[in-house]
Amino acid sequence: MKVAVCYEPKKPLVIEERPVPEIGEEEVLIKVHYCGVCHSDLHIVDGDWADWVSYPTIPGHEVVGIAVKVGSKVKNVKEGDPVGVPWLYSSCEVCDYCVEGEEPLCPNHEITGITKQGGYAEYMVAHGRFVAKIPEKLDLAYAAPLFCAGLTVYSALRHMEVKPDDLVAVQGVGGLGHLAIQYAKAMGAKVVAISHSSNKKETALSLGADYFIDTSTSDPAEELKKLGGADIIISTVFDSKAIQPLISGLAPKGRLCVVGAASEPLLVSPFELLAKRLVITGSAIGGRKLLRETLEFSADLGIKPLVEIFPFEQVNEVLDRLRKGNINLRAVLKMV
Ligand code: NAP
Ligand code: ZN
Repeated sequence: MKVAVCYEPKKPLVIEERPVPEIGEEEVLIKVHYCGVCHSDLHIVDGDWADWVSYPTIPGHEVVGIAVKVGSKVKNVKEGDPVGVPWLYSSCEVCDYCVEGEEPLCPNHEITGITKQGGYAEYMVAHGRFVAKIPEKLDLAYAAPLFCAGLTVYSALRHMEVKPDDLVAVQGVGGLGHLAIQYAKAMGAKVVAISHSSNKKETALSLGADYFIDTSTSDPAEELKKLGGADIIISTVFDSKAIQPLISGLAPKGRLCVVGAASEPLLVSPFELLAKRLVITGSAIGGRKLLRETLEFSADLGIKPLVEIFPFEQVNEVLDRLRKGNINLRAVLKMV
C-alpha cells in the first residue's frame, strides 16, 4: 500500500510502499477512501509541535473509508461498513474522564497520525471501539472533514451551551471556522464571521453568517460592540496576537473559546475579566459521543463542508497551498 511519511519536519512527505498491516482481534482494517487535510497536519509537518511529536510519522486524522477486515472482538462495525477515524485513536476507557465521555482529556489517549499511523495511506488499522460508522446520508468525501474540523467546533459550541439568539462570533473562515458558522447558525445563534480576508465575505454570508467583520479594515472589538457584544467567540486562528483584540468585543458574561492551536501566550487584562465577568477557555476535538452527534447533526441538517478534492499523490502541493492560505476551504485527499 502507498503511504505518505513525514520523516522529519520541514521536509516534503515521502510517498512509499508498505505492506498492508495485519489486524488484532479488537481492530479494524480500513480501506481509506478520503482523508481531510487539517491545519494540525501542517503544524506536524512544519515542526511547530516538534517538542512532543516524534518522527517519522504518517499524518492524517480525518479518515474515512470502508471496513474491509474486522477483528473477532469488534462488535460495533462489520465488514463493508463505511467508517471514519478521528484524531482520538483510542483512550484508556477506564479513567474518570473516559467514563464520563470526555476521552480527549484521558491522560493515556493515542493520536491518529502522531502516535499511530494516520490516514495519508491506502489502508489503516483502527481501534474497533473508536471508529465511527458514517450515516448513510453523508457522502464520504464530505464526511471526512467532520472527523476533526466538524467535531472540534461542534464540541466547542456544545461546551459553550449556545442558546438561540446568542451572538456567536467565529474567528477564521477556514476548515474549522466555516463549519462553526454553519453549526452555530443551526443551533439558532446570530452569527458573526470574523476574518482577515476580505474576499471571504460572500462565502461566510452564504454559509449562514449574519454579519462579517473584516479585521484588515476594521477594529473587531469595536464592530462587535456595535452589535451589542459577543456572547460567545470561537476562535479558530493560530496567532495569539490576532485573538487578543477580540476580547474587548465580548458582552458582559461573554466567553471566548479558543480551538486554534496558537502557542504564544494570550495577554488578558484581569480588570476587564472581573468587570465583565468574562470567561476564557479552550476546547480540543471531542469524544465518541460528540463525534456521533456531529455526524448525525450534520446529516440531519444537511451541513456540509466546502471541499477541494485532490489526488493523494499531490499531498505536498496541498500542504503548501494550505500553508499559503490558498484552500477553499478544506482540502481532502482522494485515495482510491
Ligand atoms: P485553516 O483551514 O488554515 O484555517 C485557519 C484560518 O485562520 C484561516 O483560514 C484564516 O481565516 C485564519 N488565519 C490564518 N492565518 C491568520 C493570521 N495570521 N491572522 C489571523 N487569522 C489567520 O486551519 P484549520 O484546519 O481550520 O485549523 C485551525 C487551527 O485549529 C489550527 O491551529 C489547528 O491546528 C487547530 N485545530 C485545533 C483542534 C482542536 O482540537 N482544538 C482541532 C483541529 C484543528 P481568515 O482568512 O478568515 O482570516
Ligand atoms: Zn485536525
